[in-house]
Amino acid sequence: MTYKFQFRPYRRRFVRSLTTNHGKWDIREGIILRLTDESGKVGWGEIAPISWFGSETLEQALDFCRQLPEEITDEIIFSIPDKLPACQFGFESAQEWGSGKCGVGSEANIITPNFSLLTPNSLFYSALLPAGEAALNQWETLWQKGYHTFKWKIGVDAIAHELEIFESLIQTLPAFTKLRLDANGGLSYDEANLWLRTCDNFKANPELPLEIEFIEQPLPVEQFQQMLELSMSYETAIALDESVAALEQLAACYQQGWRGIFVIKPGIVGSPSRLRKFCQQHQIDTVFSSVFETAIGRLAALQLAAELSRNNRAIGFGIDHFFEQEETWFQTLWNDF
Ligand code: MG
Repeated sequence: MTYKFQFRPYRRRFVRSLTTNHGKWDIREGIILRLTDESGKVGWGEIAPISWFGSETLEQALDFCRQLPEEITDEIIFSIPDKLPACQFGFESAQEWGSGKCGVGSEANIITPNFSLLTPNSLFYSALLPAGEAALNQWETLWQKGYHTFKWKIGVDAIAHELEIFESLIQTLPAFTKLRLDANGGLSYDEANLWLRTCDNFKANPELPLEIEFIEQPLPVEQFQQMLELSMSYETAIALDESVAALEQLAACYQQGWRGIFVIKPGIVGSPSRLRKFCQQHQIDTVFSSVFETAIGRLAALQLAAELSRNNRAIGFGIDHFFEQEETWFQTLWNDF
């Protein structure tokens, strides 16, 4: 199959800026691409790199798009090198969308994508609580919006202080809440042990009606062996995130014995077809998560999440952070084509 290939770089300002351990993030930049096959069917894709998390840079993705001919083939799409994981995701998902293989895509095989298919159901999503004490005042608003799974960042402040806040949070959150703690690799080995011990103690308390679902990436990527050891020493589950940013890393962790949870960011993990194959073959326990892509990338990412999620884990698409006016924005981006 050959496709007419077109692309548009974009820049979008977040409704509120995101603070990560890599600093403040105000503008999401990426590329929207469109493939039109010989019969006129259109498929949309998005390249949304996060280079500080391990993907290619926007510039590298743009260079790749610019050097491609106006007509491309399946062979080109399925042989994009592993050093361009966000491109692999963007092109393959556009190809799937156009071919109607993708469930959401088949409905939207028209000139403009159908955004109404994205009506979010907060029950299936995890909501990010603000860091520190602010979490104590904000969970209620999110709970009222229907969120039952929350994520709270740890390793941001002194551990003694965070443990105090955690204690209050645990006492106030309603029954059936699930709580995830994300350290972003920011704990020391001793601190990780202390957090895991604390969570295990809570787990052992039958009067506590909520669930501490997992601790995410307690230690830096280089300390895989220590995380593996921790995952076998405590009841509380550990999820790898930074350690498994790309499919090759994910496979390497699995090969080295990781049987805990894998956080998958479809937008930067690489080829969707190879991801599918890997997840189905090894039946790994996954949590899907956003890279703050637009609705185009989100459709493809949520499709993968729906296919490959197991164990009823909420997906981390922090929909409260999303950009406003998606449909209008998209029309404007594409109108001058
Ligand atoms: Mg994380």
